[in-house]
Amino acid sequence: NQTWVLRQRPVGDIKEGDLDLVETPLEPLKDGEVRAKTVYLSLDPTNRIWMSDVDAYLPPVGIGDAMRGGGLAVVVESKHDGFQQGDVVNTGLGTWTMYPTLQGEGLAKLPILPGVPLTAYMGPLGATGMTAYFGLMDIGKPQAGETVVVSAAAGAVGSMVGQIAKIQGCRAVGIAGSDDKCKWLTETAGFDAAINYKTEDVGAALDKHCPDGIDVNFENVGGQIMDEVIARLNDFSRMPLCGLISTYNATDPVPGPYNFSNLLMRRTLMKGFIVIDYFPRFPEGIQQMAQWLMEGKLKFETDVVKGFENAPSSLSRLFEGKNLGKLVVECSPP
Ligand code: NDP
Repeated sequence: NQTWVLRQRPVGDIKEGDLDLVETPLEPLKDGEVRAKTVYLSLDPTNRIWMSDVDAYLPPVGIGDAMRGGGLAVVVESKHDGFQQGDVVNTGLGTWTMYPTLQGEGLAKLPILPGVPLTAYMGPLGATGMTAYFGLMDIGKPQAGETVVVSAAAGAVGSMVGQIAKIQGCRAVGIAGSDDKCKWLTETAGFDAAINYKTEDVGAALDKHCPDGIDVNFENVGGQIMDEVIARLNDFSRMPLCGLISTYNATDPVPGPYNFSNLLMRRTLMKGFIVIDYFPRFPEGIQQMAQWLMEGKLKFETDVVKGFENAPSSLSRLFEGKNLGKLVVECSPP
């Protein structure tokens, strides 16, 4: 078996040598266990958080421990009555390992829906889809006619947020890092407007595309982009604080937001959230997202990198903005 193990804590960007690929023999299965072969590994910004020794929502991965991460795997051997060879399972908060040994008890078997590719379970029907769904619906509480702004809009979470906002009858404005991404947002995903933060004046573009101000800011990025949005929030606006990707590789404390006082003046509700808190409600979220997906109301993209050995080096795609949609590593043929 092959497993990616954390060798040292990265400083700034992840570098070669921060993780090691380790070979270990597979132990015989015990009663109640299931062995699976990884098909897709999910690469997420939070992988980077887990590598740092910071006070986060979960303890950091220990030095010498298997890297934490989720994915989809196909059962190759089972000593649990509920699973048989060929079943596809969600490894949840698993590890970056080629042949995970999983407890059958509580293991999630994927409901295979007609016409829905496996990659959908990594995106709209997976953890990032649930992040978008619950963050927007539960905290953002979008009302028809309101304006919803989302940053990292062409990524896994952001692309879903804008589309759900549209389904709710809102104006959806996305902020992303390339013209191609902006084109995808407006021409394929149905956003009303998209702003390329690398080439445009974000504040001026927000003024142009959000003539009635901003009612919901779904925050994925932090830093200067967040500041520009905060400055344009409406009275009683909501701000699901989902992520701050612009700060995850920072080696020094990140200053700001400078427009913080506007949260007071506008009586904004800001709430940080972590999707795992919504785990008990996943069936509800998956059912709704699956319905929208089957009705053709959600478009999604998957950025597929091939080869388990490429997992650590591919994580930088998220920080360099190379991915459109959900970044995954294909470890074996789906
Ligand atoms: P994405 O698929 O959105 O990939 C990350 C994107 O962020 C990149 O494609 C890039 O797009 C953008 N980005 C990277 N660095 C910067 C930067 N310095 N400034 C502006 N944009 C940047 O990842 P996810 O959808 O998985 O995650 C999006 C956010 O949601 C992250 O902050 C993540 O931590 C958070 N998250 C939170 C969860 C929770 O439970 N709270 C669960 C899942 C995700 P671009 O080309 O536009 O720059």
